[in-house]
Amino acid sequence: MKKIAVFTSGGDSPGMNACIRAVVRTGIKMGAEVVGIRCGYEGMIEADFVPLDSQAVSGIIQQGGTILQTARCARFRTPEGRRMAYDQLMKAGIEGVVAIGGDGTFTGAHVFSQEYDFPFVGTPGTIDNDLFGTDYTIGYDTAINTAMAAIDNIRDTANAHNRLFIVEVMGRDAGFIALRSGIASGAEAVLIPESTSDTQHLLEILSRNEAMRKRANIIVVAEGDEEGGAFQLAKTIRERFPIFETKVTILGHVQRGGRPTCSERVLASRLGMEAVKALLDGRRNVMIGQVHKDITYIPFEQAIKHHQRVNPGLLEMVEMLC
Ligand code: ATP
Repeated sequence: MKKIAVFTSGGDSPGMNACIRAVVRTGIKMGAEVVGIRCGYEGMIEADFVPLDSQAVSGIIQQGGTILQTARCARFRTPEGRRMAYDQLMKAGIEGVVAIGGDGTFTGAHVFSQEYDFPFVGTPGTIDNDLFGTDYTIGYDTAINTAMAAIDNIRDTANAHNRLFIVEVMGRDAGFIALRSGIASGAEAVLIPESTSDTQHLLEILSRNEAMRKRANIIVVAEGDEEGGAFQLAKTIRERFPIFETKVTILGHVQRGGRPTCSERVLASRLGMEAVKALLDGRRNVMIGQVHKDITYIPFEQAIKHHQRVNPGLLEMVEMLC
C-alpha cells in the first residue's frame, strides 16, 4: 500500500489531532504517502484531499477539535454518494483509509466495504465511550475531566447559596460521562439512560437530605436519561420538594473541546499508530481498540452492533457513595 488517507467524522472529540498525527507519522515511517480527507465523508465525495507530511502535523497533539474538520454527511448514506466517494478515492490513488469516528462512522465504513473491495480501519473517536471492544474511546477522558472541573465549580456556588443543582452532561444513549464525572465530583445522585430505577433512588436521597436539612446537592444527569433530561427532572423535584432551591446547568458543547489530557494523547497516538500498522499489514474493516492495555481488532460489524456495557462496579460506587 503506497498511499493511505485519514479522516475524522461525526462528533469531534479531543485527541483526534493526536490520532491524525500518529497516523501520518507512522504512515510515513512505514513508507506510505498520507493524505488527509477534510470534513468526513463529505470530503471523500468532494475529493477534498490534502497531502500531509510530518511537518503538517507538528504542534497539533495538544489541540482539541480536529485539523481535518468533521461533518455529518447525508449523501454517504445513499448508494450514489458512496459510489462518488469510491470513484474519488480511486482517482486519487488512495489504497486504504483510517477513519476516526464513532459508531455512525463505522456503520458507513461497514456499508461501504460490503459494496466495494476497499480497506478501511477505524479508531474510536467519540466522547461517549459507548463503543464495544475498547475500554476507552478517544475524547472520553478529556470530556470527563472537563465535566468534573465544571461540576466542582458548580459545587462552590451550590454550597454558598444552599442550592440544589441539576447538571446535565452529554450522553444521548450512554451514561459513561455522567457516571464517572458524577462519582469524581462527589455528586449526591447520578442518573443515566442505562438504569431505569435511579429517579426513585434520587427521590429517596432527597427525602433523606431534606430531613437532614442538607439543601446543597448536586445531581448529575445524562442528557439521554429516560426521565427526559435536566429540565424535566427539575420539574419533578420542584413539585415534590419545593423546599429545595433547584437550578439547572446544561454543560453542553464545552465537553467536546479543550486540550486533551495526557492519557488521551497517549491513547490516541497508540491507536493511530496501530491503525496504520494494521492497515499496512492487510487488516481491513476493523476498529482498533485497547482492552486492558492490549490492542484489539474488532470487526466494524461487531463494534456497531454491540454497545459497551456500564461497569457494574461503577454503579455500585454510586449506590454506596452518593
Ligand atoms: P458520534 O458518536 O460522535 O456522534 P458518529 O461517527 O457516530 O460520531 P454520526 O453522525 O452518527 O457520528 O455518523 C457519521 C457519519 O457516518 C454520518 O454523517 C454519515 O455520513 C455516516 N453514516 C452513519 N450511518 C450511516 C449508514 N447507515 N450508512 C452510510 N453512512 C452512514
